[in-house]
Amino acid sequence: MSRSSSPKESLIIPLKAATPSRGEPGFDLLDLPIIGRFLRWRHARTSLQLPLLVIAAIMIWDGLTGSQLAPKNLATTITWVHYRGLLILGLLVAGNLFCMACPFMLPRNLARRFFQPTRMLPRYLRNKWGAIVILGLFFFLYELFDLWATPWWTAWVIIIYFAAALVVDSLFKGAPFCKYVCPLGQFNFVSSLVSPLEVKIRDPQTCSSCRTKDCIKGNEQVRGCELWLFQERKVGNMDCTFCLDCIHSCPHDNVGISTRIPGSELLTNSFRSGVGWFSKRLDMSVLMIIFTFGALINAFGMVSPVYALQSWMADVFNTQNEAPILGSIFFFGLVIEPLVLLTIAGVVTQRWAGQSGSLLSIITRYASALVPLGFGVWVAHYLFHFLIGFWTFVPLTQSLFAEFGVHVLGDPHWDLGPVAPEGLLNPVEWGFIGLGCFGSLLLAYQIAQRDAPQHTWRAFLPWAVLVLSLTIAGFWLMALPMEMRGTSFG
Ligand code: SF4
Ligand code: SF4
Repeated sequence: MSRSSSPKESLIIPLKAATPSRGEPGFDLLDLPIIGRFLRWRHARTSLQLPLLVIAAIMIWDGLTGSQLAPKNLATTITWVHYRGLLILGLLVAGNLFCMACPFMLPRNLARRFFQPTRMLPRYLRNKWGAIVILGLFFFLYELFDLWATPWWTAWVIIIYFAAALVVDSLFKGAPFCKYVCPLGQFNFVSSLVSPLEVKIRDPQTCSSCRTKDCIKGNEQVRGCELWLFQERKVGNMDCTFCLDCIHSCPHDNVGISTRIPGSELLTNSFRSGVGWFSKRLDMSVLMIIFTFGALINAFGMVSPVYALQSWMADVFNTQNEAPILGSIFFFGLVIEPLVLLTIAGVVTQRWAGQSGSLLSIITRYASALVPLGFGVWVAHYLFHFLIGFWTFVPLTQSLFAEFGVHVLGDPHWDLGPVAPEGLLNPVEWGFIGLGCFGSLLLAYQIAQRDAPQHTWRAFLPWAVLVLSLTIAGFWLMALPMEMRGTSFG
Protein backbone atom coordinates (compact mmCIF):
# COMPACT_ATOMS: atom_id res chain seq x y z
CA MET A 1 0.00 0.00 0.00
CA SER A 2 1.41 3.33 -0.97
CA ARG A 3 1.70 6.08 1.57
CA SER A 4 -1.17 7.99 0.12
CA SER A 5 -3.44 5.09 -0.76
CA SER A 6 -6.54 4.42 1.29
CA PRO A 7 -6.35 1.42 3.59
CA LYS A 8 -10.00 0.72 2.84
CA GLU A 9 -9.28 -1.26 -0.33
CA SER A 10 -6.70 -3.42 1.40
CA LEU A 11 -9.11 -4.21 4.21
CA ILE A 12 -11.53 -6.03 1.94
CA ILE A 13 -8.93 -8.35 0.44
CA PRO A 14 -9.64 -11.76 2.00
CA LEU A 15 -7.16 -12.42 4.77
CA LYS A 16 -6.52 -16.03 5.65
CA ALA A 17 -5.12 -14.94 8.97
CA ALA A 18 -8.31 -13.15 9.85
CA THR A 19 -10.22 -15.30 12.28
CA PRO A 20 -12.52 -12.91 14.07
CA SER A 21 -14.29 -14.36 17.03
CA ARG A 22 -17.82 -13.59 16.00
CA GLY A 23 -20.12 -15.29 18.42
CA GLU A 24 -23.83 -15.23 17.85
CA PRO A 25 -25.04 -11.64 18.10
CA GLY A 26 -26.97 -11.07 21.31
CA PHE A 27 -29.89 -8.76 21.85
CA ASP A 28 -29.84 -6.01 19.22
CA LEU A 29 -30.53 -2.40 20.25
CA LEU A 30 -31.80 -1.64 16.75
CA ASP A 31 -34.69 -4.06 17.34
CA LEU A 32 -36.12 -1.85 20.07
CA PRO A 33 -39.22 0.05 18.92
CA ILE A 34 -38.30 3.70 19.54
CA ILE A 35 -34.55 3.63 20.17
CA GLY A 36 -33.97 1.29 17.23
CA ARG A 37 -35.97 3.44 14.88
CA PHE A 38 -34.14 6.55 16.03
CA LEU A 39 -30.68 4.98 15.60
CA ARG A 40 -31.55 3.79 12.10
CA TRP A 41 -32.46 7.34 11.12
CA ARG A 42 -29.64 8.78 9.03
CA HIS A 43 -29.44 11.97 11.03
CA ALA A 44 -29.51 10.31 14.44
CA ARG A 45 -25.88 11.12 15.20
CA THR A 46 -26.17 14.75 14.11
CA SER A 47 -29.29 15.19 16.21
CA LEU A 48 -27.30 13.99 19.24
CA GLN A 49 -24.30 16.17 18.39
CA LEU A 50 -26.21 19.42 17.88
CA PRO A 51 -27.44 19.83 21.50
CA LEU A 52 -23.91 19.05 22.72
CA LEU A 53 -22.53 21.66 20.34
CA VAL A 54 -24.88 24.25 21.82
CA ILE A 55 -23.92 23.19 25.37
CA ALA A 56 -20.21 23.38 24.42
CA ALA A 57 -20.74 26.91 23.04
CA ILE A 58 -22.47 27.99 26.28
CA MET A 59 -19.65 26.44 28.32
CA ILE A 60 -17.01 28.29 26.30
CA TRP A 61 -18.89 31.55 26.66
CA ASP A 62 -19.38 31.12 30.41
CA GLY A 63 -15.80 29.91 30.90
CA LEU A 64 -14.36 32.99 29.16
CA THR A 65 -16.77 35.62 30.43
CA GLY A 66 -18.53 34.27 33.53
CA SER A 67 -17.60 33.87 37.19
CA GLN A 68 -14.13 32.39 37.62
CA LEU A 69 -15.28 30.52 40.70
CA ALA A 70 -15.33 26.90 39.50
CA PRO A 71 -18.57 25.73 41.22
CA LYS A 72 -20.37 28.77 39.80
CA ASN A 73 -19.28 28.29 36.22
CA LEU A 74 -20.82 26.01 33.60
CA ALA A 75 -17.49 25.28 31.88
CA THR A 76 -15.95 23.66 34.96
CA THR A 77 -19.02 21.99 36.47
CA ILE A 78 -20.33 20.49 33.24
CA THR A 79 -16.88 19.37 32.05
CA TRP A 80 -15.45 17.96 35.27
CA VAL A 81 -18.60 16.84 37.09
CA HIS A 82 -21.48 16.06 34.74
CA TYR A 83 -19.77 15.20 31.50
CA ARG A 84 -17.24 12.80 33.09
CA GLY A 85 -19.94 11.15 35.21
CA LEU A 86 -22.32 10.67 32.28
CA LEU A 87 -19.48 9.52 30.04
CA ILE A 88 -18.43 6.75 32.42
CA LEU A 89 -22.05 5.74 33.10
CA GLY A 90 -22.67 5.51 29.35
CA LEU A 91 -19.62 3.30 28.93
CA LEU A 92 -20.70 1.16 31.86
CA VAL A 93 -24.28 0.49 30.80
CA ALA A 94 -24.05 0.78 27.01
CA GLY A 95 -20.93 1.71 25.04
CA ASN A 96 -19.02 4.57 23.50
CA LEU A 97 -21.96 6.98 23.60
CA PHE A 98 -19.88 10.14 23.97
CA CYS A 99 -17.96 9.54 20.74
CA MET A 100 -21.32 8.84 19.11
CA ALA A 101 -22.56 12.29 20.17
CA CYS A 102 -19.19 14.05 19.94
CA PRO A 103 -19.73 17.75 19.05
CA PHE A 104 -16.08 18.23 17.99
CA MET A 105 -16.92 16.37 14.77
CA LEU A 106 -19.57 18.82 13.58
CA PRO A 107 -17.32 21.72 12.41
CA ARG A 108 -14.98 19.13 10.88
CA ASN A 109 -17.89 17.48 9.01
CA LEU A 110 -19.03 20.88 7.78
CA ALA A 111 -15.52 21.71 6.56
CA ARG A 112 -15.36 18.43 4.67
CA ARG A 113 -18.38 19.44 2.61
CA PHE A 114 -16.14 22.06 1.01
CA PHE A 115 -12.75 20.49 1.25
CA GLN A 116 -11.89 16.80 1.03
CA PRO A 117 -8.36 15.94 2.15
CA THR A 118 -6.52 13.59 -0.18
CA ARG A 119 -3.49 12.62 1.90
CA MET A 120 -3.20 9.84 4.44
CA LEU A 121 -1.64 10.52 7.82
CA PRO A 122 2.02 9.43 7.50
CA ARG A 123 2.39 5.74 8.28
CA TYR A 124 4.74 6.33 11.23
CA LEU A 125 1.99 8.30 12.95
CA ARG A 126 -0.70 5.66 12.44
CA ASN A 127 -0.47 4.21 15.92
CA LYS A 128 -1.37 5.12 19.48
CA TRP A 129 2.02 6.47 20.60
CA GLY A 130 1.16 10.12 19.98
CA ALA A 131 -2.18 9.76 21.77
CA ILE A 132 -0.47 8.00 24.70
CA VAL A 133 1.89 10.95 25.16
CA ILE A 134 -1.01 13.42 24.90
CA LEU A 135 -3.08 11.40 27.39
CA GLY A 136 -0.20 11.22 29.90
CA LEU A 137 0.46 14.95 29.45
CA PHE A 138 -3.21 15.70 29.91
CA PHE A 139 -3.30 13.84 33.25
CA PHE A 140 -0.27 15.85 34.35
CA LEU A 141 -1.40 19.26 33.10
CA TYR A 142 -4.87 18.76 34.59
CA GLU A 143 -3.25 18.61 38.03
CA LEU A 144 -0.54 21.19 37.41
CA PHE A 145 -2.91 23.91 36.20
CA ASP A 146 -5.86 22.82 38.40
CA LEU A 147 -8.03 22.69 35.29
CA TRP A 148 -11.00 21.57 37.39
CA ALA A 149 -10.82 24.93 39.22
CA THR A 150 -10.17 27.16 36.22
CA PRO A 151 -13.17 28.03 34.01
CA TRP A 152 -11.05 30.14 31.67
CA TRP A 153 -8.58 27.32 30.95
CA THR A 154 -11.37 24.75 30.73
CA ALA A 155 -13.01 26.87 28.03
CA TRP A 156 -9.70 26.97 26.17
CA VAL A 157 -9.33 23.20 26.41
CA ILE A 158 -12.71 22.89 24.65
CA ILE A 159 -11.70 25.45 22.00
CA ILE A 160 -8.37 23.66 21.41
CA TYR A 161 -10.27 20.40 21.02
CA PHE A 162 -12.53 21.83 18.30
CA ALA A 163 -9.54 23.39 16.53
CA ALA A 164 -7.37 20.27 16.70
CA ALA A 165 -10.13 18.02 15.31
CA LEU A 166 -10.75 20.52 12.51
CA VAL A 167 -7.09 20.93 11.58
CA VAL A 168 -6.04 17.27 11.75
CA ASP A 169 -9.07 15.98 9.86
CA SER A 170 -8.83 18.77 7.28
CA LEU A 171 -5.28 17.76 6.46
CA PHE A 172 -5.69 14.01 6.34
CA LYS A 173 -8.22 11.46 5.08
CA GLY A 174 -10.36 9.25 7.28
CA ALA A 175 -10.77 10.10 10.94
CA PRO A 176 -7.15 10.42 12.10
CA PHE A 177 -8.04 12.75 14.96
CA CYS A 178 -10.35 10.16 16.57
CA LYS A 179 -8.15 7.18 15.81
CA TYR A 180 -4.67 8.51 16.52
CA VAL A 181 -4.81 11.85 18.35
CA CYS A 182 -7.81 12.39 20.62
CA PRO A 183 -6.91 11.44 24.23
CA LEU A 184 -10.58 11.37 25.16
CA GLY A 185 -11.28 9.00 22.29
CA GLN A 186 -8.50 6.66 23.46
CA PHE A 187 -9.95 6.72 26.97
CA ASN A 188 -13.36 5.82 25.53
CA PHE A 189 -11.95 3.11 23.24
CA VAL A 190 -10.18 1.33 26.12
CA SER A 191 -13.16 1.74 28.47
CA SER A 192 -15.55 0.42 25.83
CA LEU A 193 -13.63 -2.87 25.76
CA VAL A 194 -15.60 -3.68 28.91
CA SER A 195 -18.90 -2.17 27.72
CA PRO A 196 -21.89 -4.43 27.15
CA LEU A 197 -22.70 -3.20 23.61
CA GLU A 198 -20.81 -3.62 20.35
CA VAL A 199 -21.45 -2.58 16.75
CA LYS A 200 -21.27 -5.82 14.78
CA ILE A 201 -22.67 -7.79 11.91
CA ARG A 202 -25.74 -9.92 12.32
CA ASP A 203 -25.12 -12.67 9.81
CA PRO A 204 -21.60 -13.57 8.53
CA GLN A 205 -23.10 -15.30 5.46
CA THR A 206 -24.69 -12.07 4.29
CA CYS A 207 -21.29 -10.36 4.42
CA SER A 208 -19.63 -13.23 2.55
CA SER A 209 -22.04 -12.88 -0.32
CA CYS A 210 -22.04 -9.07 -0.24
CA ARG A 211 -20.39 -7.60 -3.34
CA THR A 212 -20.40 -3.90 -2.58
CA LYS A 213 -18.94 -3.77 0.97
CA ASP A 214 -20.54 -0.38 1.49
CA CYS A 215 -19.87 -0.53 5.22
CA ILE A 216 -16.22 0.21 4.51
CA LYS A 217 -16.30 1.73 1.01
CA GLY A 218 -19.35 3.91 1.54
CA ASN A 219 -21.85 4.83 -1.14
CA GLU A 220 -23.39 7.97 -2.61
CA GLN A 221 -25.56 8.60 0.41
CA VAL A 222 -23.42 7.54 3.36
CA ARG A 223 -19.68 7.30 3.89
CA GLY A 224 -18.07 4.03 4.92
CA CYS A 225 -16.24 3.53 8.20
CA GLU A 226 -13.72 6.35 8.58
CA LEU A 227 -11.91 4.45 11.34
CA TRP A 228 -10.99 1.69 8.85
CA LEU A 229 -12.99 -0.98 10.64
CA PHE A 230 -14.35 -3.44 8.08
CA GLN A 231 -17.44 -5.02 9.58
CA GLU A 232 -16.78 -8.50 8.28
CA ARG A 233 -13.52 -8.62 10.24
CA LYS A 234 -14.21 -6.13 12.97
CA VAL A 235 -13.69 -7.56 16.45
CA GLY A 236 -14.81 -5.65 19.52
CA ASN A 237 -14.98 -1.96 20.30
CA MET A 238 -11.38 -0.74 19.91
CA ASP A 239 -11.37 2.35 17.67
CA CYS A 240 -15.14 2.24 17.16
CA THR A 241 -16.75 5.63 17.71
CA PHE A 242 -20.29 4.25 17.45
CA CYS A 243 -20.76 6.76 14.62
CA LEU A 244 -23.42 4.52 13.02
CA ASP A 245 -22.07 5.07 9.47
CA CYS A 246 -21.72 1.32 8.86
CA ILE A 247 -25.29 0.75 10.02
CA HIS A 248 -26.61 3.39 7.64
CA SER A 249 -24.43 2.39 4.68
CA CYS A 250 -24.93 -1.39 4.74
CA PRO A 251 -27.45 -2.12 1.97
CA HIS A 252 -28.40 -5.44 3.59
CA ASP A 253 -29.28 -4.09 7.03
CA ASN A 254 -26.67 -6.47 8.38
CA VAL A 255 -25.06 -4.31 11.07
CA GLY A 256 -26.54 -4.00 14.53
CA ILE A 257 -25.64 -2.91 18.05
CA SER A 258 -25.56 -6.16 19.98
CA THR A 259 -25.08 -7.12 23.58
CA ARG A 260 -22.08 -9.20 24.59
CA ILE A 261 -20.28 -10.27 27.76
CA PRO A 262 -18.40 -7.13 28.94
CA GLY A 263 -14.66 -7.58 28.60
CA SER A 264 -14.91 -10.84 26.63
CA GLU A 265 -13.11 -9.28 23.68
CA LEU A 266 -10.00 -8.77 25.82
CA LEU A 267 -9.45 -12.50 25.71
CA THR A 268 -9.71 -12.59 21.92
CA ASN A 269 -6.35 -12.69 20.23
CA SER A 270 -7.46 -12.80 16.63
CA PHE A 271 -6.87 -10.29 13.86
CA ARG A 272 -9.00 -7.18 14.27
CA SER A 273 -9.86 -5.13 11.23
CA GLY A 274 -8.24 -1.68 11.40
CA VAL A 275 -6.38 -2.66 14.58
CA GLY A 276 -4.40 -5.85 13.95
CA TRP A 277 -3.53 -8.29 16.73
CA PHE A 278 -3.63 -6.87 20.25
CA SER A 279 -0.71 -9.15 21.18
CA LYS A 280 1.43 -7.55 18.46
CA ARG A 281 0.49 -3.97 19.26
CA LEU A 282 2.85 -2.73 21.97
CA ASP A 283 1.30 0.74 21.65
CA MET A 284 -2.14 -0.73 22.38
CA SER A 285 -0.85 -2.49 25.50
CA VAL A 286 0.90 0.65 26.73
CA LEU A 287 -2.36 2.54 26.23
CA MET A 288 -4.18 0.00 28.43
CA ILE A 289 -1.41 0.23 31.05
CA ILE A 290 -1.52 4.06 31.09
CA PHE A 291 -5.31 3.83 31.33
CA THR A 292 -5.08 1.61 34.42
CA PHE A 293 -2.22 3.30 36.25
CA GLY A 294 -3.60 6.69 35.19
CA ALA A 295 -6.80 5.86 37.10
CA LEU A 296 -4.77 5.45 40.29
CA ILE A 297 -2.46 8.43 39.83
CA ASN A 298 -5.41 10.64 38.90
CA ALA A 299 -7.20 9.68 42.13
CA PHE A 300 -3.94 10.07 44.08
CA GLY A 301 -3.79 13.69 42.91
CA MET A 302 -6.97 14.46 44.91
CA VAL A 303 -6.20 13.00 48.32
CA SER A 304 -4.20 14.50 51.19
CA PRO A 305 -1.08 12.22 51.01
CA VAL A 306 -0.16 13.82 47.69
CA TYR A 307 0.24 17.19 49.43
CA ALA A 308 2.44 15.65 52.14
CA LEU A 309 4.52 13.99 49.42
CA GLN A 310 4.78 17.23 47.43
CA SER A 311 5.92 19.17 50.47
CA TRP A 312 8.51 16.49 51.34
CA MET A 313 9.79 16.54 47.73
CA ALA A 314 9.92 20.35 47.76
CA ASP A 315 12.26 20.14 50.76
CA VAL A 316 14.39 17.40 49.19
CA PHE A 317 14.69 19.13 45.80
CA ASN A 318 14.88 22.52 47.46
CA THR A 319 12.32 24.07 45.14
CA GLN A 320 8.85 25.58 45.40
CA ASN A 321 8.21 25.06 41.69
CA GLU A 322 5.32 22.59 41.41
CA ALA A 323 6.03 21.46 37.84
CA PRO A 324 9.14 19.32 38.48
CA ILE A 325 7.64 17.89 41.68
CA LEU A 326 4.32 16.95 40.14
CA GLY A 327 6.12 15.86 36.96
CA SER A 328 8.26 13.44 39.00
CA ILE A 329 5.18 12.01 40.73
CA PHE A 330 3.39 11.47 37.43
CA PHE A 331 6.50 10.09 35.74
CA PHE A 332 6.87 7.61 38.58
CA GLY A 333 3.16 6.65 38.57
CA LEU A 334 2.71 6.38 34.81
CA VAL A 335 6.14 5.12 33.68
CA ILE A 336 8.46 3.77 36.39
CA GLU A 337 5.89 2.00 38.56
CA PRO A 338 4.14 0.10 35.72
CA LEU A 339 7.49 -0.69 34.10
CA VAL A 340 8.85 -2.24 37.29
CA LEU A 341 5.66 -4.05 38.36
CA LEU A 342 4.83 -5.49 34.95
CA THR A 343 8.43 -6.53 34.36
CA ILE A 344 8.49 -8.42 37.67
CA ALA A 345 5.17 -10.16 36.88
CA GLY A 346 6.37 -10.97 33.36
CA VAL A 347 9.73 -12.37 34.52
CA VAL A 348 8.08 -14.56 37.16
CA THR A 349 5.56 -15.86 34.61
CA GLN A 350 8.33 -16.53 32.11
CA ARG A 351 10.66 -18.33 34.56
CA TRP A 352 8.25 -20.02 36.96
CA ALA A 353 5.58 -21.09 34.45
CA GLY A 354 8.07 -21.55 31.63
CA GLN A 355 5.82 -19.51 29.36
CA SER A 356 7.17 -19.23 25.83
CA GLY A 357 7.85 -15.95 24.07
CA SER A 358 9.87 -12.87 24.88
CA LEU A 359 9.34 -10.93 28.10
CA LEU A 360 7.81 -8.08 26.10
CA SER A 361 5.32 -10.37 24.36
CA ILE A 362 4.25 -11.85 27.72
CA ILE A 363 3.71 -8.40 29.22
CA THR A 364 1.84 -7.29 26.08
CA ARG A 365 -0.52 -10.27 26.29
CA TYR A 366 -1.31 -9.94 30.01
CA ALA A 367 -1.62 -6.12 30.01
CA SER A 368 -5.16 -6.37 28.65
CA ALA A 369 -6.20 -8.12 31.88
CA LEU A 370 -5.68 -4.84 33.77
CA VAL A 371 -8.38 -2.96 31.85
CA PRO A 372 -11.43 -4.03 33.98
CA LEU A 373 -9.67 -2.93 37.17
CA GLY A 374 -8.61 0.39 35.60
CA PHE A 375 -12.18 0.93 34.44
CA GLY A 376 -13.50 0.09 37.92
CA VAL A 377 -11.27 2.77 39.47
CA TRP A 378 -12.31 5.37 36.87
CA VAL A 379 -16.00 4.55 37.46
CA ALA A 380 -15.56 4.84 41.23
CA HIS A 381 -13.73 8.15 40.93
CA TYR A 382 -15.95 9.86 38.37
CA LEU A 383 -19.15 8.63 40.03
CA PHE A 384 -17.99 10.13 43.32
CA HIS A 385 -17.77 13.61 41.78
CA PHE A 386 -20.96 13.07 39.78
CA LEU A 387 -23.06 12.03 42.78
CA ILE A 388 -21.64 14.81 44.95
CA GLY A 389 -21.98 17.59 42.38
CA PHE A 390 -24.98 16.44 40.34
CA TRP A 391 -27.36 19.21 41.45
CA THR A 392 -24.93 22.02 40.67
CA PHE A 393 -26.53 22.34 37.25
CA VAL A 394 -29.75 23.64 38.87
CA PRO A 395 -28.43 26.91 40.40
CA LEU A 396 -26.15 27.39 37.41
CA THR A 397 -29.10 27.21 35.01
CA GLN A 398 -31.11 29.53 37.26
CA SER A 399 -28.30 32.03 37.35
CA LEU A 400 -27.78 31.77 33.57
CA PHE A 401 -31.43 32.62 32.96
CA ALA A 402 -31.25 35.44 35.51
CA GLU A 403 -28.22 36.84 33.72
CA PHE A 404 -30.36 37.21 30.58
CA GLY A 405 -33.08 38.92 32.61
CA VAL A 406 -35.36 35.84 32.68
CA HIS A 407 -36.35 35.14 36.30
CA VAL A 408 -38.89 32.36 35.77
CA LEU A 409 -36.63 29.80 37.49
CA GLY A 410 -36.30 31.82 40.68
CA ASP A 411 -33.19 32.61 42.71
CA PRO A 412 -30.26 30.19 42.37
CA HIS A 413 -30.27 27.38 44.99
CA TRP A 414 -26.57 27.19 45.74
CA ASP A 415 -27.18 25.06 48.80
CA LEU A 416 -28.34 21.85 47.10
CA GLY A 417 -26.51 18.81 48.53
CA PRO A 418 -25.25 15.56 47.02
CA VAL A 419 -27.69 13.42 45.04
CA ALA A 420 -26.83 10.32 47.10
CA PRO A 421 -26.34 9.99 50.88
CA GLU A 422 -22.65 10.42 51.66
CA GLY A 423 -22.62 7.12 53.57
CA LEU A 424 -23.41 5.36 50.31
CA LEU A 425 -20.48 6.78 48.36
CA ASN A 426 -17.70 4.59 49.72
CA PRO A 427 -19.61 1.30 49.31
CA VAL A 428 -20.46 2.27 45.72
CA GLU A 429 -16.82 3.13 44.97
CA TRP A 430 -15.50 -0.04 46.57
CA GLY A 431 -18.15 -2.09 44.77
CA PHE A 432 -16.99 -0.90 41.34
CA ILE A 433 -13.32 -1.39 42.18
CA GLY A 434 -14.14 -4.88 43.50
CA LEU A 435 -16.02 -5.72 40.30
CA GLY A 436 -13.08 -4.47 38.22
CA CYS A 437 -10.68 -6.55 40.30
CA PHE A 438 -12.83 -9.65 39.81
CA GLY A 439 -12.93 -9.04 36.03
CA SER A 440 -9.16 -8.55 35.86
CA LEU A 441 -8.46 -11.71 37.87
CA LEU A 442 -10.81 -13.69 35.65
CA LEU A 443 -9.15 -12.37 32.51
CA ALA A 444 -5.62 -12.95 33.81
CA TYR A 445 -6.56 -16.54 34.66
CA GLN A 446 -8.07 -17.14 31.23
CA ILE A 447 -5.05 -15.66 29.49
CA ALA A 448 -2.81 -17.93 31.60
CA GLN A 449 -5.02 -20.89 30.71
CA ARG A 450 -4.81 -20.00 27.03
CA ASP A 451 -1.09 -19.24 26.86
CA ALA A 452 0.36 -21.56 29.52
CA PRO A 453 -2.01 -24.55 29.70
CA GLN A 454 0.60 -26.72 31.46
CA HIS A 455 1.26 -24.26 34.27
CA THR A 456 -1.83 -22.10 34.40
CA TRP A 457 -1.64 -21.28 38.12
CA ARG A 458 2.04 -20.43 38.01
CA ALA A 459 1.48 -18.10 35.07
CA PHE A 460 -1.59 -16.57 36.69
CA LEU A 461 -0.32 -15.94 40.22
CA PRO A 462 2.15 -13.08 39.51
CA TRP A 463 -0.61 -11.20 37.66
CA ALA A 464 -3.10 -11.97 40.43
CA VAL A 465 -0.68 -10.46 42.95
CA LEU A 466 -0.30 -7.38 40.73
CA VAL A 467 -4.07 -6.98 40.29
CA LEU A 468 -4.71 -7.42 44.02
CA SER A 469 -1.97 -4.91 44.92
CA LEU A 470 -3.45 -2.31 42.58
CA THR A 471 -6.92 -3.06 43.94
CA ILE A 472 -5.75 -2.46 47.51
CA ALA A 473 -4.20 0.83 46.32
CA GLY A 474 -7.58 1.72 44.76
CA PHE A 475 -9.50 0.89 47.96
CA TRP A 476 -7.04 2.93 50.01
CA LEU A 477 -7.36 5.95 47.72
CA MET A 478 -11.16 5.86 47.74
CA ALA A 479 -11.22 5.51 51.54
CA LEU A 480 -9.32 8.78 51.93
CA PRO A 481 -11.21 12.08 51.92
CA MET A 482 -11.21 13.29 48.31
CA GLU A 483 -11.39 16.90 47.21
CA MET A 484 -14.94 17.72 46.16
CA ARG A 485 -13.82 19.45 43.01
CA GLY A 486 -16.25 21.46 40.97
CA THR A 487 -18.74 21.83 43.82
CA SER A 488 -19.36 24.46 46.44
CA PHE A 489 -18.39 21.86 49.08
CA GLY A 490 -14.87 21.68 47.68
S1 SF4 B 1 -21.75 -5.22 6.78
FE1 SF4 B 1 -23.12 -4.94 5.03
S2 SF4 B 1 -21.94 -3.79 3.51
FE2 SF4 B 1 -20.47 -4.66 5.01
S3 SF4 B 1 -19.83 -6.56 4.09
FE3 SF4 B 1 -21.51 -7.04 5.49
S4 SF4 B 1 -23.33 -7.00 4.20
FE4 SF4 B 1 -21.71 -5.97 3.03
S1 SF4 C 1 -17.46 0.35 12.89
FE1 SF4 C 1 -16.80 2.28 12.03
S2 SF4 C 1 -18.59 3.07 10.94
FE2 SF4 C 1 -19.32 1.47 12.33
S3 SF4 C 1 -19.89 2.56 14.19
FE3 SF4 C 1 -17.77 1.87 14.48
S4 SF4 C 1 -16.54 3.62 13.80
FE4 SF4 C 1 -18.61 3.93 12.99
